[in-house]
Amino acid sequence: MNLKNHLTEEYKGFEQGPIRPPSEAYSLLVRVTRNCPWNRCTFCPVYKESRFSIRPVGHVKKDIDSVHRSVEIIRETAGKTGGAPLAEIRRVAGNYNDLDPSAFNAALNWVSGGMRSVFIQDANSLIIKSSDLVEILTHLKTRFPRVERITSYARSHTIARINDDHLKTLRDAGLNRIHIGLESGSDKVLKMAKKGVTKKTHILAGLKIKKAGMELSEYVMPGLGGKIFSEEHAIETANALNQINPDFIRLRTLAIPNSVELYDDYETGRFEKCTDLMMAKEILLFIESLNGITSVVRSDHILNLFQNLEGKLPGDKENMMDVVRRFLDMPPDRQCVYQVGRRLGFFSRPSDMKNRRRLERAEKACKEFGITPENVDEVIDELMKRFI
Ligand code: SF4
Repeated sequence: MNLKNHLTEEYKGFEQGPIRPPSEAYSLLVRVTRNCPWNRCTFCPVYKESRFSIRPVGHVKKDIDSVHRSVEIIRETAGKTGGAPLAEIRRVAGNYNDLDPSAFNAALNWVSGGMRSVFIQDANSLIIKSSDLVEILTHLKTRFPRVERITSYARSHTIARINDDHLKTLRDAGLNRIHIGLESGSDKVLKMAKKGVTKKTHILAGLKIKKAGMELSEYVMPGLGGKIFSEEHAIETANALNQINPDFIRLRTLAIPNSVELYDDYETGRFEKCTDLMMAKEILLFIESLNGITSVVRSDHILNLFQNLEGKLPGDKENMMDVVRRFLDMPPDRQCVYQVGRRLGFFSRPSDMKNRRRLERAEKACKEFGITPENVDEVIDELMKRFI
């Protein structure tokens, strides 16, 4: 943790970090820390080579003020012109020499998205002092009182160390949803992936967030156990979630770009990646093992084999399992067409293959690139790297 810089660094303008959850596409991104204080997960390419640091509270508040000023100018201009023609708004903004261009662009996106939610960045914002985070949240709510949702990523390891009263204070200051990268409930898989947390700590952290009255979104990574732990990964992850009952369970399939530590193990054969067929069986077992909970399941990431595998438990469990079974019941050549069509964006679920035009496009791609059931997983691996 870079405390020296934290105390002495100069403000260099509005900042945003590199990632946010897919569900935060319309949120204003407020950067409280830079990068990840852990940065050791073997599958994670995001903050490699980047040092973690905490931004001074005053700098974060300046960012919020810059966005606030930009929002006021955007609204005023839109009001005067009876609408919001982008070119006119940009022209008027150009008259203000002191406007921060990055803050202005962020404000423009946020206004067009409805200004309802804020995402606190980067990877583990709750690692800062709770009183500092409360000060930032309070400032945010003062500037934008109509914001309905303020969310952040957090590590279970960090949450487990925050006392319940502090979590409640953060909730009262406006932080109402936490995204946790659970990835797996299997201690073997968590250790292999160097996640730096155990199943027990994941469960403890999840329950603490819920007790504080925040919404909880848990990310699961199909495929992270490889071939050897595929079944254990599915069963143990479902078991952890059955004990937490999070509001959301989100799937984000493992991909292995060249830049991650896991790539070496994959190249040398120490880590055997699941094929799509194995992954589908793993997901089926995972959903089948989710019991006694009321979570909403989402599969909103482009890397996933079934993008629309969604529903609320327990009522939609059978429907979700049917989506996977439909793929597993296909002959290998049809599975191959689905895999390719899915990753090229023609299909989001097996029933999309009924659409003749989309089916023809996927078949054409297989033919043109010589993709067969024998080589399809290799081709998919390459395609997936492009989406990371
Ligand atoms: S904790 Fe999250 S951001 Fe940090 S290395 Fe692991 S997956 Fe990446």
